This record gives sequence, C-alpha cells and structure tokens, in this order.
Amino acid sequence: MKLILLGPPGAGKGTQAKMLTERFDIPQVSTGDILRAAVKEGTPMGVKAKSFMDAGGLVPDEVVVGIVHERLQKDDCVKGFILDGFPRTVPQADALKQTLAALDKNLDKVLSLEVDTEALIGRLTGRRTCRECGRGFHVTFDVPEVEGKCDSCAGELVQRDDDQEETIRKRLEVYGQQTMPLVDYYRGEGLLATVDGMLDIDVVQAEILSALRAS
Ligand code: ADP
Ligand code: AMP
Repeated sequence: MKLILLGPPGAGKGTQAKMLTERFDIPQVSTGDILRAAVKEGTPMGVKAKSFMDAGGLVPDEVVVGIVHERLQKDDCVKGFILDGFPRTVPQADALKQTLAALDKNLDKVLSLEVDTEALIGRLTGRRTCRECGRGFHVTFDVPEVEGKCDSCAGELVQRDDDQEETIRKRLEVYGQQTMPLVDYYRGEGLLATVDGMLDIDVVQAEILSALRAS
C-alpha cells in the first residue's frame, strides 16, 4: 500500500498515519519528523532547515526531495509507505513521480483530509508532541493516559515551537498557496479520495479504510 496523506497542518495526517502504520505494517514517512530530528541533531541539513521551519515557511524543495528519494529506497518501504507532509508543492509532486518511476512503484491513493480553518487553529494550539517518538496528542481531543507523558514511550510531551498562533497562521497561508494545488493535481491523476477530517479520530480512520477498500 503506497499512500499520500494530504491536508493542511493540523488536519490529522500524523495521527492517522500512525494508526495506518500499525494496521498495514508499513512505515510513516513524515518529512516534518525527519527534519525535526535533523534540527535536534544539529546536522548541516537541520541547521539549514531550522530558519524556514521556525518562520512557518517551507524548506527548499531540493532538500525535502532528497530526503524522500533516499528514504523510499530503504528496505522497510518495499511493502509500501505512508507519506505524511510530502509532497507540499507541485515540483515536489513531480519529483516524487520520478522517484517512484525509477523504483518501479505506483501510488495507490492520495487521501485528502478536509478540516475547517478555525478547527485547525484549535487543534494546533492544543497539540502536544512526544519529544522522543513524535507521537501527537491533544489537550482536549486526544488526552494522554498520564498527563504530560506519551502513551507509547512515556517520553515528555511538549508544544512544538511552530505551534504558536502567529506561526500557525503563516503555515496555513503557505498551505493555501503552495500545497492546496496538489488536490487538483492528484484528482487529475485519478488518485484522490477526500475524507471529512472534522469527524472524531476513530471515525476518520474508518472513513480512510473505507476509501481504501473502494479503490
Ligand atoms: P497533522 O499531522 O496533519 O499536522 P496531527 O495528526 O498532528 O496533524 O493533528 C493535529 C492535532 O489535532 C493533534 O493534537 C491531534 O491530537 C489532533 N487531532 C487529530 N485528528 C483529530 C480529530 N479527528 N479530531 C480532533 N482532534 C484531532
Ligand atoms: P509538519 O511536521 O508536516 O507540520 O512540518 C513542519 C515543518 O517542516 C513545515 O512547516 C515546513 O517548514 C517543514 N516541512 C515538512 N515537510 C515539508 C515539505 N514536504 N516541504 C517543505 N517543507 C517541509
């Protein structure tokens, strides 16, 4: 199963991707997670990416395209993968097409999660993320069993630097300008399924599974 989860910041891509990885035993490939790990380690790529991420902008296409090109060649992607947060621009989508053609792979589906802007802001300001494994929670909608601790690994839950309202608004603007055109791009390729991301987390997962069965 080779999937893309498309949608604005806060749509629930990471939440749903984690549930799908368990169900299908395929990896979640999140460019945001990979970039945050590089920032934390202080690699040259991380140093370069940090200023773009802090400002709520996009990291240059060539950087993320390189990350995904390398990642999709790893052994754990043989059965499939879930792309989360990539592609985010038309040039990234074109580059992905080339990478997949070179690997003789085809996408099965692009799932577009649709959520109202005001709900996105509430989700992102209330998001808490595990410092260790990156799993996301929410202060109201997805509360951890023990306050401040990750249910998966007991890591500390923190607020991401870019989950401040001003940066969130910038990220949503960037989404509208640079990423939204991908909805039509993949509709044109006959790969798009839209999913109502306003529903409860488990209901969204059920809708995704039903869209995958229909394909
Ligand atoms: P994305 O990866 O698309 O940026 P996340 O999966 O991190 O989004 O979700 C953003 C926030 O919204 C998280 O705090 C998550 O717990 C919460 N969330 C995700 N899906 C839902 C949902 N269907 N209803 C309410 N809150 C949700
Ligand atoms: P995310 O975790 O998907 O919300 O991504 C966090 C930040 O990482 C984004 O706001 C961008 O700065 C950067 N980023 C993640 N994925 C990409 C991508 N595909 N293209 C460009 N920048 C990205």
